[in-house]
Amino acid sequence: MPRTVITGGAGFLGSHLCDHFLAQGHEVICIDNLLTGNASNIGHLASVERFQFIERSVTEPIELEGAVDHVLHFASPASPTDYLRFPIETLQAGSAGTRHALELARAGNARFLLASTSEVYGDPQVHPQREDYWGNVNPIGHRSVYDEAKRFAEALTMAYHRAYGVETRIVRIFNTYGPRMRLEDGRALPNFLSQALGGRDITIYGDGSQTRSFCYVDDTVAGIARLLDSSEILPVNVGNPSEITILEFAKAVLELTGSTSRLHFQPFPEGYGDDPKVRRPDIGRARSKLHWEPKVPLREGLNRTIEYFKARMRAGGQET
Ligand code: UDP
Repeated sequence: MPRTVITGGAGFLGSHLCDHFLAQGHEVICIDNLLTGNASNIGHLASVERFQFIERSVTEPIELEGAVDHVLHFASPASPTDYLRFPIETLQAGSAGTRHALELARAGNARFLLASTSEVYGDPQVHPQREDYWGNVNPIGHRSVYDEAKRFAEALTMAYHRAYGVETRIVRIFNTYGPRMRLEDGRALPNFLSQALGGRDITIYGDGSQTRSFCYVDDTVAGIARLLDSSEILPVNVGNPSEITILEFAKAVLELTGSTSRLHFQPFPEGYGDDPKVRRPDIGRARSKLHWEPKVPLREGLNRTIEYFKARMRAGGQET
C-alpha cells in the first residue's frame, strides 16, 4: 500500500487530495497546522484506518516513522486575503516548509510534488501563460510573500532534484474552486457566492475587466494525480483555459443563484496593487505529457459549489 504524505491536507485542495489518494488505496498522512485549513474538511475521514492527521506546522522538521512513497507539499495560505494577513507564515511555508517536505522525501527516497501556482507569472506580459514564461513579479510588493515564496519553492525543488536526485514534480495550479472553499476566505468566488446567497452587494474590485480562468477542483485533482504518476520534472500548468472577466463571473454567479444582489464596484483593497490583469493557462504541456485536460464546465462546477455554500450557510457558516 503506497504511503502518501500531504502537507496542507486539511485545506480546500489538500482535503480533496486526501480523498483522492485514499480512494486509490493509499495510506494518507495529512499534516496541517489549521492556520487556514479546517478540521471539518477532513472530519469525514476520522474513522478511516488508512488516514492519519497530524496537527503541526511544516515550518518544523517533519519526522515520521516508517517508509514514505510520496510527499505532496500543499501547505500554504493561498487566498490573497489570507497571505496578506499572514505574510511571514506564508514565506515560511514556502521556504522552511518546502525544505522540510523535500528533506522528508529525500530521506525516504519518496517522490515529491510541489504545489506551485500561476502566481509565479505575476502580472503577466505574455498571454496565455506557458511554462517557459519567467513571469513579471514585483519582488517587494504585498503579493510577493506568496509569489516569491512559491518561486523560491520551485528553485529549491529543482535544486534537490539536481543535487540529490530527488524525484520531483512541480504543478503550477491556476484558480481552482469547488466545495470546501471557506465561505469568507476573501477570494472572488467565495465572496461572490456568500454575498449573492446572503443578499449582500457583490464587491467588484476595480472595473471588473481583469480576467481569471477557473478550474473545478475535481479536474485540478485529476491533473495533479496524473503529474505525480508521470515522469515530468519540469513545471506543468494545471488549470482551465476558459477565461472570463471578473464582471462576467459575478454576473454568472448572480444568474445561477437567482440572486438580486447588486454589483458594487469599489477600489482595490490595500495590498491588491499588483493584482494580475489577466490570467489564463496554456495547457499544451499537460495535454501532451499527462493526457489531461479539464472536463467540468464552469456552470456545472458553479452549481455544485453553490449547493455546498447553501448547505454551509444553512448550518450557520464554518469559519474557524
Ligand atoms: N476580486 C473582486 N472582488 C472580490 C474578491 C476578488 O473583484 O470580492 C477580484 C480580485 O481583485 C482579482 C480576482 O477577483 O482580480 C480574483 O481574485 P481572487 O482573490 O479570487 O484570486 P487571485 O486570482 O487574485 O489569486
